[in-house]
Amino acid sequence: MTSTMRAAVITAAQHFEIQQRAIPVPAPGSALIAVALAGICGGDLQQYRRATGALATIPGHEACGTVASAPGHAALEGRRVVFDPQVHWCGHCEWCAKGHTEVCAQRRYLGAHVDGTFAQFVAVPIDRLYPIPDSMTWEEAASVHGLAGPVFASQRFVHHIGETVAVLGPGAAGLLFVQLAKKCFGASTVILAGRSAHRLALGMQLGADAVVNTLTDKLSDAVLALTGGRGVDVIIETTGNVQLRQELPALAALRARVLSYATGPIGFDSLKCLSVFGSTGATRSMQPALDLIASGRIVTGPLISHRYPLDDIQQAFDTAIGDAKGDYVKGVIDLTQ
Ligand SMILES: [Zn+2]
Ligand SMILES: [Zn+2]
Repeated sequence: MTSTMRAAVITAAQHFEIQQRAIPVPAPGSALIAVALAGICGGDLQQYRRATGALATIPGHEACGTVASAPGHAALEGRRVVFDPQVHWCGHCEWCAKGHTEVCAQRRYLGAHVDGTFAQFVAVPIDRLYPIPDSMTWEEAASVHGLAGPVFASQRFVHHIGETVAVLGPGAAGLLFVQLAKKCFGASTVILAGRSAHRLALGMQLGADAVVNTLTDKLSDAVLALTGGRGVDVIIETTGNVQLRQELPALAALRARVLSYATGPIGFDSLKCLSVFGSTGATRSMQPALDLIASGRIVTGPLISHRYPLDDIQQAFDTAIGDAKGDYVKGVIDLTQ
């Protein structure tokens, strides 16, 4: 094995450079993973747009691959795995002690604090690895962390069987929330709202009962019309669109729960007795997400709309941001090429 690898690094806003980097040497307790596919997520796009974070760090955190070496854990070598990108928490602060490691102030992520997955190899602590079944494709495996976030977030509050749900934003996360609401949490009606006819149609295929195109229709009017003026019990906001976020109380039923899965202030109406929830991290939902995909319950294959070799990563990110054709859902970088 040569001692260097190809890696993509953001060197300035909206600029990637493919560099030769030393292959990481796994510390005791860590494994070296040969990356197969690495997904592009909203966080990566933000890093790329503004060149935030440590510029020398290799970005990327949603990936799968094969264990190339695992000192002291030979049985792992050759296993196909996915991994939790939150590689560190302190283990003894108030929040870690309560089991909420995802909000530990010392938390560290692949691709943000340490070198990530847009490279041929990445080092990952062994206790963050999740072996995948032989039947699982790399495409499905690359989606596990992308599903783990929505699974974790969905568990912030109790879902009652037969409720109505509105999912705002038919991106990869929104399309997973649609499936979770319908197939796992027993929603009676799931309304999906967004601006891309292509993604809304995909949402209908994946289980949405109705769609609202917010380019042509006012969201709250459309949702009220679809629910007989009552509004929905659960709103899942994934767009970060400021105007849309302020409109939320108008489509909420009394006592509705609102899940904010994007950043920014969100509309609130105390007289409607709304509850608003946020979420970050996915450590404790990696295995459930893996199992949901392995069992075929949640479908992720159709969400991968674009695939690029590492050398074309800049084009991949520009396509994700521009989305000129409105058909982008999720891009992956293929490290096997
Ligand atoms: Zn992500
Ligand atoms: Zn801690």
